[in-house]
Amino acid sequence: MLKYSKFIAKLVDNSSKVVNIYAFQIRPFMISCYFSDVQDSDCSWKGDPDSLALHLITHHEISSFSGCKHHRLILEMILEPDCYGYRFVVISFKGSEPRTMIFEEYYDEKSEILSLILRSIQTEKLRYSMRIEGNGCALEFEGTTQTFQDPTIDVNRKGLCIHFAQLQHLSEVKTGNELRYKILVTLYT
Ligand SMILES: [Zn+2]
Repeated sequence: MLKYSKFIAKLVDNSSKVVNIYAFQIRPFMISCYFSDVQDSDCSWKGDPDSLALHLITHHEISSFSGCKHHRLILEMILEPDCYGYRFVVISFKGSEPRTMIFEEYYDEKSEILSLILRSIQTEKLRYSMRIEGNGCALEFEGTTQTFQDPTIDVNRKGLCIHFAQLQHLSEVKTGNELRYKILVTLYT
């Protein structure tokens, strides 16, 4: 399980510099790696969002999960409230139209709010839902996937937001101050 640490992708406006000369297609922007600002990492990778998932998996050993053909996946996560900040995993949804997404979490220590979004490496917006369920209660969000042109997760409210106290009710196992919870992610295509 990944430890929380402070990292997030940054948009780099590069529209005037990068031109695909074969297709004469102007790339709208490039992104830098999630680890570009992380202490002891300082990754200098920049590229298309399309290439980011492979880079994260091969260079940073980021966990990746594959969903079944029905585009549904259950993630089991652990939250240690003393470790705040960002974390993410790469999700590959299989099926007739495979899609790669990045599931992002951000825990804000001051507000004690956990935010979760699904960010697509493509520019298309797809409908999806996230559901946290446990102890007879459930909290569900339904919306559209975010892209790298949308705000970073710390200021993005287009996902599931849950307070630590609420999450405690939905967590199945509590070890000390640690919460273990399951999230059902469903992509509608
Ligand atoms: Zn990197």
